[in-house]
Amino acid sequence: MLRCAVCQTPSQQSLCTGCQSLLEPPENPCQICAKPLNQPNGVCGECRADPPAFSQTYCATIYQAPVDHWVQQLKFGERLDRARIMAEALVDLLIEVNNSVPIIPVPLHPKRLRKRGYNQAYEIAKIICKQQNRPLLSDVLIRIKNTEMQAELHEKQRKANVRAAFKVIKPINHDSVLLLDDVMTTGQTLRSAAQCLQKAGIETVMVTVFARSGG
Ligand SMILES: [Zn+2]
Ligand SMILES: [Zn+2]
Repeated sequence: MLRCAVCQTPSQQSLCTGCQSLLEPPENPCQICAKPLNQPNGVCGECRADPPAFSQTYCATIYQAPVDHWVQQLKFGERLDRARIMAEALVDLLIEVNNSVPIIPVPLHPKRLRKRGYNQAYEIAKIICKQQNRPLLSDVLIRIKNTEMQAELHEKQRKANVRAAFKVIKPINHDSVLLLDDVMTTGQTLRSAAQCLQKAGIETVMVTVFARSGG
């Protein structure tokens, strides 16, 4: 019998109905980055002052307890089964994006990938693409700077650190792509990756993340 990955009650989906309600989509999301705002149909201050190269963000939930724990488990605890929860939550949102639009998982730096043994974004993307019969482009974008250990950096340093952190290494024969990561915090990583894809000629870069920070 299939069981809910969180509470173990019988469930066809990786989350039972009760645990699905633990996901809290951002309220009044910014139309570009999905940051929760006070009023509907708005664009946040940061996106207005410095528009990112992506046009919109599909986000399943705010990054908060207990969802943050699942993200940490996938990232640091080798709980690869957590990728299924995140993928299934995103499948429902991405139904409105034509399934000819490929997903590009945000790549890890090769050093980081060797250390962890897997890329959590790739693990989530793989499940979505299989379910939606959507192309998965996991070898077109690479990370040329190891910028992941930046939690302790100040915002200015952080921005400088992710600048030109990515490189497109193969032609991408699509006008639109979905750039996927597990979490958006400051958004700098996704901004940098989207900018790189735009420079490579992609007209529309959309972003999808399982969780985004609310602040
Ligand atoms: Zn449950
Ligand atoms: Zn925004």
